Amino acid sequence: MEQKLPNIKILDEKDKRLHIKSKPATFPLSDDMKKLINDSLVYLEMSQDEKIAKKYNLRAGMGLSMCQLGINTRIFVVSEDHGDGTFGRYVVINPEIVSHSEELIYVGEGEGCLSVNRPVEGIVPRYARVTFKAYDIDGKEYTIRVREDMAVAFQHELDHLNGILFVDKIDPKNPYKNKDMMREI
Ligand code: ZN
Repeated sequence: MEQKLPNIKILDEKDKRLHIKSKPATFPLSDDMKKLINDSLVYLEMSQDEKIAKKYNLRAGMGLSMCQLGINTRIFVVSEDHGDGTFGRYVVINPEIVSHSEELIYVGEGEGCLSVNRPVEGIVPRYARVTFKAYDIDGKEYTIRVREDMAVAFQHELDHLNGILFVDKIDPKNPYKNKDMMREI
């Protein structure tokens, strides 16, 4: 049976709340925050289902930060499509980068963001592999190593927590700067 689309409102890039640094989360999280985290994951999963996305006119997204919902707390979620109808669910709270590869990558077709509702020309350098330290929804610390598109998603979302959008990292005068020094994914 199809799930109901969660009632969340994603802010547009012009909103001030997307341009400020979010504050650390404190535990235990409120029930409202836990619901918002769960709703965000369901929304992302539904957005990545072609039929559902068409029905509700959704753009596909794999990550969402709480600041995009107007809450400036250092929490983001990432939904990884396994391609078989199942999804990996990642709840990332108060994240920090522990280490990263030297190698840089970029998304060839350009990054997307559910808060940026326009075509954007250009690429963003990202580490190919990153190890993050973060807390889960119950406040338990964990370490996770992400690579390729998951590494891009985690870094894109971490930027959100610092008030940075991917478009801020593109020089409009030179949108493909250093392209030859990085690997395309
Ligand atoms: Zn985004």
